[in-house]
Amino acid sequence: MKKVMGYAGSIGAIILGLIMFVVGYALQEDSFGYTFRPPYTPYEMLVLFFKFGGVILLILGVVMLVLLIVANRYVSQNIKEMHNGPTEFLTCPVCHCKTTPDSAECPNCHYQFKEQNRK
Ligand SMILES: [Zn+2]
Repeated sequence: MKKVMGYAGSIGAIILGLIMFVVGYALQEDSFGYTFRPPYTPYEMLVLFFKFGGVILLILGVVMLVLLIVANRYVSQNIKEMHNGPTEFLTCPVCHCKTTPDSAECPNCHYQFKEQNRK
């Protein structure tokens, strides 16, 4: 659930960044008489904020998405390794501690497993 939120957030940032950049770019193209050279008028500052804010959001979104994909791949590998380990466990009837099926005694309370308890 948290993972999906992260993906949605980074994709949202990319889309918002793109929209902001396009709006800023379109505003700048439509602005006659504005030089976009310092000192900036409030309108020019707003247009530049949209353009550069959009680019920054876009980059942040892409970086977040890449990090999420890398993290996701790493976690999947770990889970895969866990599944390759022993899948059957022997549960101690005394302390309910789990151990490998070939154990002769419980690693926690040293209860001696009987032959019929083993699978
Ligand atoms: Zn035990």
